Amino acid sequence: MQAEIISNGDELTSGKILDTNSQWLSIKLAEIGITTLYHTTVGDDLSAMIGVLRAAAERADLILWTGGLGPTADDLARQAIAESVGVPLEKNEESMRFIQEIFQRRGQKMPQANEIQAFQPHGAMPIRNPHGTAPGIDFTVQRKNTSQNGRLDFFRIIAYPGVPAEMKEMWFDSGQMSIQEMLDRLTGQKRVLRFRTIHSFGLGESQIETMLPDIINRNHDPKVGITANQATITLRIVAEAVTEEECLKKIEPTATLIYKTLGDLIFGEGDDRLQEVVCRKLNTYGKTLAVIEAGTRGLLAEAIAGSKESPDCFAGGIVLPPKQPIEPDEMIRRGRRLFNVDYLLLIGAYPSGQPDRNRMEETFVAVVDAQKTDLQESVLALQKYPYVGHPNIIDDLYVKRAMNLLRKNHRR
Ligand code: ATP
Repeated sequence: MQAEIISNGDELTSGKILDTNSQWLSIKLAEIGITTLYHTTVGDDLSAMIGVLRAAAERADLILWTGGLGPTADDLARQAIAESVGVPLEKNEESMRFIQEIFQRRGQKMPQANEIQAFQPHGAMPIRNPHGTAPGIDFTVQRKNTSQNGRLDFFRIIAYPGVPAEMKEMWFDSGQMSIQEMLDRLTGQKRVLRFRTIHSFGLGESQIETMLPDIINRNHDPKVGITANQATITLRIVAEAVTEEECLKKIEPTATLIYKTLGDLIFGEGDDRLQEVVCRKLNTYGKTLAVIEAGTRGLLAEAIAGSKESPDCFAGGIVLPPKQPIEPDEMIRRGRRLFNVDYLLLIGAYPSGQPDRNRMEETFVAVVDAQKTDLQESVLALQKYPYVGHPNIIDDLYVKRAMNLLRKNHRR
């Protein structure tokens, strides 16, 4: 089964906002084993919308659509879907109830304009939207020409509102399950997919790949994918089997091998980022932290303060001018004057000028035991890294290097 994702709205095609819905839905489809072949973005123009829907129906079996389901004149998704298939729009009583329910819960009277949102293409099913007034559309259409390019004898359009939070909620509420059920019906067996994602930091994607040559191989079962995101390298194990238990049994030896091979390069799994891992460790041992950063302009403090773990460990930070040279000793003295914490985490100033491959300039990151009085002894770890790399990622890289150094060097 191949999918196409269509995002709709002038805001997207004019460049005012970025289409994150397609990215999110592609990831979710991949998680249930469906490949997305096309992302299409179309403005609020009825004939263009009908055109992209018809093209998608030629080349995909599952079409996920987002946007254009609101009550205003430029919300044309309902009409475009109906016209692309050649059916009329009709008022759907279930859809009407969904909308009235939302207004009742808000203690408001339903404005007349919202009635339009209860219209659905003839033959389509409405999808409940728990928090918005726009019900979705779930429409399975029989193809007239079934021998078409190896396509299934039907295609299915599922339309969600554009608001990302509503779209995601509807996906988890009903979308994922109903697509999975359709796949089960098509394959004649119940399939279960389970994933495990393991994150590492410290080596590049190709280095990690050469360390694990056998498992990052197309024919390996379970499949292992590798992705790099701002120097975090993630291994994603995907197992498919008839039961969840069987999936987990397949995943386990591969995960063990990854842990054995990568060792301390691995910092976490699933939703973990370095800030969550570091804060969790400090919270576990009741330790506290302050940061003092020059080069990264406050981004280290932002990362730690934004950790999804409890921020109990974080006492605050000092942000210094990014390009004014400063020695670690001076940073430690300033940190101690302001904070009574267990650790100080430092990022030095950046060299003046752009990062340059031909000139070896360095910036340090350091972990300091702030309770030790002797300055030399208090430095638990200090690493210098060459100031090279693309300016867009260099800040993020130093922030991650600092958090990773603390992860490896904190004491209980
Ligand atoms: P509503 O009832 O809120 O009008 P709708 O289906 O008409 O729902 P849109 O008007 O198309 O949704 O989009 C609402 C908002 O959702 C947009 O202003 C934008 O902020 C966000 N949005 C829409 N599409 C996307 C997208 N593809 N990616 C990210 N955000 C989006």
